[in-house]
Amino acid sequence: MSVAAQCRVRTRVEGTVQGVGFRPFVYRLADELGLAGFVLNDERGVLIEVEGGEREVERFLDRLPAEAPPLAAVERVTPARVALVGEGTFRIVESRRRGQPDALVSPDTATCEDCRRELFDPADRRYRYPFINCTNCGPRFTIVRGVPYDRPLTTMAGFEMCAACRAEYEDPGDRRFHAQPNACAECGPRARLVAPDGAEREAADPLRAAAEQLLSGAVLAVKGLGGYHLACRAEDEGAVARLRARKHREDKPFALMAPSLESARELVELGPDEEELLRGRERPIVIARRRPGARVARAVAPRSRDLGVMLPYSPLHQLLLADAGTPLVMTSGNVSDEPIAYEDADALRRLAPIADVFLVHDRPIHMRTDDSVVRSRAPGAPLILRRSRGYVPGSVALPLAARRPLLACGAELKSTFCLAKGRRAWVGHHIGDLQNWETLRSFREGIEHFERLFAVEPEVVAHDLHPDYLSTRYALEREGLRPIGVQHHHAHLAACLAEHGEGGPAVGAIYDGTGHGSDGTAWGGEILVGDLGGFERVGHLLPVPLPGGDRAVREPWRMACAWLSEALGELAPPAPGVEADRWRDVAELARRGGPAAPPTTSVGRLFDALAALCGLRSAVNYEGQAAAELEGAADPRERSAYPLPTSGPVLDPRETVLAARSDLERGRPVAAVAARFHNALAAATADACAAAADARRLGTVVLSGGVFQNRLLLERTDEALRRRGLKVLVPRLLPPNDGGIAYGQAAVAAAREAP
Ligand SMILES: [Zn+2]
Ligand SMILES: [Zn+2]
Repeated sequence: MSVAAQCRVRTRVEGTVQGVGFRPFVYRLADELGLAGFVLNDERGVLIEVEGGEREVERFLDRLPAEAPPLAAVERVTPARVALVGEGTFRIVESRRRGQPDALVSPDTATCEDCRRELFDPADRRYRYPFINCTNCGPRFTIVRGVPYDRPLTTMAGFEMCAACRAEYEDPGDRRFHAQPNACAECGPRARLVAPDGAEREAADPLRAAAEQLLSGAVLAVKGLGGYHLACRAEDEGAVARLRARKHREDKPFALMAPSLESARELVELGPDEEELLRGRERPIVIARRRPGARVARAVAPRSRDLGVMLPYSPLHQLLLADAGTPLVMTSGNVSDEPIAYEDADALRRLAPIADVFLVHDRPIHMRTDDSVVRSRAPGAPLILRRSRGYVPGSVALPLAARRPLLACGAELKSTFCLAKGRRAWVGHHIGDLQNWETLRSFREGIEHFERLFAVEPEVVAHDLHPDYLSTRYALEREGLRPIGVQHHHAHLAACLAEHGEGGPAVGAIYDGTGHGSDGTAWGGEILVGDLGGFERVGHLLPVPLPGGDRAVREPWRMACAWLSEALGELAPPAPGVEADRWRDVAELARRGGPAAPPTTSVGRLFDALAALCGLRSAVNYEGQAAAELEGAADPRERSAYPLPTSGPVLDPRETVLAARSDLERGRPVAAVAARFHNALAAATADACAAAADARRLGTVVLSGGVFQNRLLLERTDEALRRRGLKVLVPRLLPPNDGGIAYGQAAVAAAREAP
């Protein structure tokens, strides 16, 4: 009798393999193939040993990456032969807790179809249980306190599983096998309704009661996955206006949550790409064109042609929306620009003046995360505007390994940080504008948490060149680290190259609001040639004074005044809605220049000027508002363009501004003027990039910076460059705005550290 050759193989699996049902999958696979051995989670991922017939072991190794569970991302499988031990069974072994943690924690994931079915099935034991989850869905990043990802190191540690839950948890054949947040109404977290003074409101079913409150016009504070939201019925004019007034938010649009895809379709125009984004497991807010006649209160998104819509992503949201049966405003639980509230006591204190009633629960949130925001650009190409819940802490590769572990601190607005080790970079969640103590605290805590989670002890710290950014100061205060200053627009260029796995050199058109230039002035309309390590500024927008500094950012009419004065060389008549005296004073301020009117090449400010000339907006309430409204006003069918000549390295839009003004004086509609301006800038940008590419024999152009959140500008520029046979790279995994800066700094620092 011949016995088939036996062998034993030890396999290490790296990637996102914890908290995603990987061990039960391995167990079932080994079981099916009749193999013995074990699987365990450790700090580096998953370790497996299998023993059995050669052919079965080989098949096991083939199927391991190919059939991995949906939330897993297997990056590396490293098998090695070891000595036979003669085991008879396959086991799942308790986690090991020593050495260097490098295992990856997965992002929070929207309720899967199986759980959703159970949630609404009256016969299921978790019928209407707002915290249902399984290995394929549920909270992850927001509840993880440390690694390895196991229940005691999550905020579920305080809940002891009942016998039924424990049986599922221990059954390798069950969908909830080792699902760390597994729970039911018997043993798990509970929802409660609370008055703003903290008193408990009796309710047999808190979810139904909350929905009834919403339908009768209340503003509800809801504790969700990564923080609190403020909610009210989207079509209730009174409730939305009250919410806006109490939140002290003038006109920044509120996001909506629709009960279903069908309901979302009634609010906004959705193509297949938008629908895919909406339904994806990340469940971001998707920005799309508002449908005429969409039933939402005026105060939801005043003056915006778009609406931000998302679908329910947690079982609690599923129930709330199903019970309400109508779209809700679902905006971050904060006042004005503060960070979103996530700790219960703090939320109650801060939101009591805003909310009429609170829907809370007793599962702590460890990490605050905002909703992510995306829009679709072209088939298969999402444009991420805010990268947070659902995406974080997924890692992004670096094209070249960091020689030493590093930290990158980002910029100031839309702040994020980035840690990197080897070729892996972890970009933190959106922190917000790093301008006060509260956001700085989130920033520090976020960095500390990520350092622990991914075991990165940085030896290098990358930062912006702006000396006054809190992120720069934080970087320079970290002791014993090698600081590397990275120019803002170079970081934008590097971020886009690196996420595409490229190292350059390439041409980059980097347009944004402002960034500290290498020469100490405020840049923001830059044509660069560079790679990850360095860059050269080969072109830029004509510099004009920024009359009144930061005030010019808040009052776009000042930029209209600066640009018209620059173009005419004399005092122009005031833009719509501006008093003649103030106009004259600002023109004078611009003429004198100096520290009160420093020069800037910002394309964001040029958009402001045009928006003010068009009479769209003379003052803004949030960053980028004027530009967004100018884009919203533009008629995409308009194909003609104003002149925008280039002289030497300078893009000179003086003629553009004058042409727009004379069109407006002749009564041409704003829709046409706005579009002709976009077309002019796109054409000039493409010309300048093509010339730079020609001169250096380069074939690739990067378009990035916050201004390229503007889809019309991005698409027109992209088209024009492709027509010239150039390859165009646009950010896909990270935002084109300053949310992508930290990762770009990390890429630059890794390149500068390279031997
Ligand atoms: Zn599930
Ligand atoms: Zn239970």
